[in-house]
Amino acid sequence: MSANDPIYLDYAASTPVDPAVIDAMARSLAAEGGRGNPASLHPWGRRAAAQIEIAREQIAALIGATSSEIVFTSGATESDNLAVLGAARGAAHRGRHVVSSRIEHKAALDPCRRLEKEGFAVTLVAPDRTGRIEPRALAAALRPDTVLVSIMWVNNETGVIQDVAEIGALCRERGILFHTDAAQAAGRIAMELHALPVDLASFTAHKLYGPKGIGALYVRRDVRAQVQPLLFGGGQERGLRPGTLPTHQIVGFGVACSLARAALRSETARLRALGERLWEQLHPLGGVHLNGAGAPRAPGLLNASFEGVEGESLVTGLTELAVSTGSACNSASGEPSYVLRALGRDSELAQSSLRFSFGRFTTEAQIDAAAAAVRREVTRLRALSPAHEPAEVGDEVVGEAGGPGREVWIRFRLQVRDGRVSRVSHRVYGCPHTLAAAAWLAERLPGRSRAELVPGTPGEWAGALVVPVEKLGRLLTLEDALRQCQQHWPGV
Ligand SMILES: *Cc1c(COP(=O)(O)O)cnc(C)c1O
Repeated sequence: MSANDPIYLDYAASTPVDPAVIDAMARSLAAEGGRGNPASLHPWGRRAAAQIEIAREQIAALIGATSSEIVFTSGATESDNLAVLGAARGAAHRGRHVVSSRIEHKAALDPCRRLEKEGFAVTLVAPDRTGRIEPRALAAALRPDTVLVSIMWVNNETGVIQDVAEIGALCRERGILFHTDAAQAAGRIAMELHALPVDLASFTAHKLYGPKGIGALYVRRDVRAQVQPLLFGGGQERGLRPGTLPTHQIVGFGVACSLARAALRSETARLRALGERLWEQLHPLGGVHLNGAGAPRAPGLLNASFEGVEGESLVTGLTELAVSTGSACNSASGEPSYVLRALGRDSELAQSSLRFSFGRFTTEAQIDAAAAAVRREVTRLRALSPAHEPAEVGDEVVGEAGGPGREVWIRFRLQVRDGRVSRVSHRVYGCPHTLAAAAWLAERLPGRSRAELVPGTPGEWAGALVVPVEKLGRLLTLEDALRQCQQHWPGV
């Protein structure tokens, strides 16, 4: 890391790789063990296979399973696909109904959508306002033809821990397979799969200080025959996931799991303290909402919404932090976080959220610096917003458009002397493009008469400022505010 790098608070997206993992992977690649195909019977193959068996034991030990129940995949996305598609297709002769929730990762939701195309019915259970899937709500969604339930263990946006014991028990009573996406749970909370009614569980190494591109699906021994593979050719992983096993990736995954197991207890306490330290410095800002408050939450994840600030503008101003936002602007979908919306947050608060996720290499000093930066930016953006200024001011010409709860809220105030603009001020709430365009316009207004007040068209502004087409609507709102100024012009 270089000194100017931002503070990394995005562990829920991917963790740094632990140096001990890098060492083990490098040794595996460099040594002769890296040469053989683990399926080969010569010494090199056998050495690679032996390394893989050690890793399987290390992974099984972290999650409380036996090594023969670990099926290697490319990550949690593939594990979720294999679990949801493989289990549902394998059980299709018994029924064609699947239950999941509205707050799952896309890696589970998209396979559910795929199943709908194959003639399955899918019910997505809504969480309560704290982000928990209530076991009673889940039970109400079960039908005689339900064959699979998929509910994540720890939510990747809020950190809320679901009651997998209770939900699994409801499934087991009815002979329904239960899958849980445990990508965020492994290494964060203690896990004893053999003591729980869980049939399938997804894992990925890069969320627990291992490399990207390797994961696992836990497949309880007695359900293996009910799961259909997605890939064919080679018979590896008991036919459930063929393909040559990547020895060095698996070695890294194994070492990552044994480090996580050794550190679990002390890290849990340390990360909880860091989370409390962060929250104690954020909530005095006022108008800050902890998403998932009131539900059990895993350490290392804190998601908060900030009233009166737009998420993308907030993140853009926080150049010294690497964090995630639930804001619409930086996601491909153009929708604010569906997870926070499902918790009942309105789109404005879903839009103004930050997810802080931290872990093994995060220090108290970094948490303090992060809190100070967020306090500074939230205060700055709130001061820019029309919400924090009286609307009526003296003899100025005021033009306002958008408003609270919208994606844009803009207010221009013009001083007019001898029929021309002599001074301009503005307040604006919105994404960084909106902020930049409002400032750009305000600079161009002095000296203009009423007739020439609007400098060109929103289409031209978009070209000059390189604003993406889908944000043109925001520029139209700015134009509306200028048109209002024309209507309120003195003597009109
Ligand atoms: C990261 C993540 C995934 C995707 O894992 P990959 O290994 O990147 O495919 C799936 N589910 C959850 C809950 C995650 O956090």
